[in-house]
Amino acid sequence: MSDSDHEILVAGTGPAGLIAALALAAHGYRVVLAGPVPSGRDRRTVALMRPSLDYLEPLGFLDGLMGETAPLQAMRLVDATGRLIRSPTVTFHAGEIGQDHFGLNIPNARLTEELAGAVRRNPAITWRESLVDSWECGADRVVATLADGARVEAKLAVAADGRQSPARQAAGISARIRALPQSALVLNFAHTREHGFVSTEFHTESGPCTQVPLPGMRSSLVWVVRPEEADAFVKLNDAALSIRVEERLQSLLGQVTVEPGRQIYPLSTLMPDRFGHNRVALIGEAAHVFPPISAQGLNLGVRDVEDLVAVADTHRDDPGSAAALSRYDRRRRPDILARSNSVNLLNASLLSGLLPAQIARSAGLGIIGGFAPLRAFFMREGMRPGSGFSALFSLRGKDRPAGSHW
Ligand SMILES: Cc1cc2nc3c(=O)[nH]c(=O)nc-3n(C[C@H](O)[C@H](O)[C@H](O)COP(=O)(O)OP(=O)(O)OC[C@H]3O[C@@H](n4cnc5c(N)ncnc54)[C@H](O)[C@@H]3O)c2cc1C
Repeated sequence: MSDSDHEILVAGTGPAGLIAALALAAHGYRVVLAGPVPSGRDRRTVALMRPSLDYLEPLGFLDGLMGETAPLQAMRLVDATGRLIRSPTVTFHAGEIGQDHFGLNIPNARLTEELAGAVRRNPAITWRESLVDSWECGADRVVATLADGARVEAKLAVAADGRQSPARQAAGISARIRALPQSALVLNFAHTREHGFVSTEFHTESGPCTQVPLPGMRSSLVWVVRPEEADAFVKLNDAALSIRVEERLQSLLGQVTVEPGRQIYPLSTLMPDRFGHNRVALIGEAAHVFPPISAQGLNLGVRDVEDLVAVADTHRDDPGSAAALSRYDRRRRPDILARSNSVNLLNASLLSGLLPAQIARSAGLGIIGGFAPLRAFFMREGMRPGSGFSALFSLRGKDRPAGSHW
């Protein structure tokens, strides 16, 4: 079989591209995956929610990660803005919606390593460890010329090639990109108090500072700060940074010891005009970028893959046709817009010094925090769109969240 016989080309070997290749292969497609072997240098962790894990489980790579993940049994939001109007602390427990945990916190480097292993073992996937150099998006086929000189033809190209996405540009899909006045400091740390599998998100004037449990007495941290603060953090030694982190966490976890290997991620937002066009479908950060609040990005990427595979299955003869891509666009649009807008709004309300924005944020969290059915609704919606609504309309006695008056 030559490469031109392959039905689907996936460009990009971050988590979204690797997951897409595995999911498409599981549905019987022949796939060429183009992109380098993941470097293993990503120090981030990713909180994958239960619906994402349920979707990924049959792809056969999660078992290898189990000793290195921590369950998220509760999520706490703390208003640490020091502003005039502040929200009450709100804690969501997975037990309130009948679950033992919301999801798992997984080190990114290990996630991509296990995904890459599963891709290699899959005979339906041909992995070319090379970047795509150029694209031709034709009426019947898309042709990619790789940096190693190979030409790959396919009916559908899946753009999983990140926020710059050369595939998106080649397909003529324009995107609104906005650099934010924020950077994320990413690190892992040990602590002297148990985290109890609770993740705490401190909302500050520069953005959220989120601690997420890891196995043992360790946690990961994503601290969103102004770029100049990030530059200053980079210059601190580990001992000095440990003190800053402990102060930021209000000593919630006792003494902090930052592990070597901190990283800085400049933040931006990105929204394309459409999610599929000219035989190219966008997934992952090629399709949406927003600040790291409430662990949404890759969970949204998993739902991109889920919808992409479902649409391809209904257009089996030509999954890259205009009809298939406009269906994909219609399916993804509400979910991506809703998530992007809510995260961007929350982020903007943190940065805003305006009183109305602070009142709205505070009142919103106060209402959610104090009203059990609304809490349950938001917890379900946070894990998967639509699940809060379906629970509202189909709740039977045995499913009622503890403390609910439904
Ligand atoms: C600080 C931080 C914390 C986060 N925490 C969470 C979280 O807890 N939960 C969550 O759900 N999300 C989280 N996210 C979001 C999540 O990390 C991203 O959604 C995810 O990493 C995006 O994966 P991707 O595969 O789309 O993109 P990338 O990981 O950027 O991968 C793009 C790939 O494309 C490849 N590529 C580029 N150009 C080409 C080319 N020409 N040809 C072939 N390949 C190419 C690159 O080599 C790369 O491998 C976080 C993000 C940040 C910044």
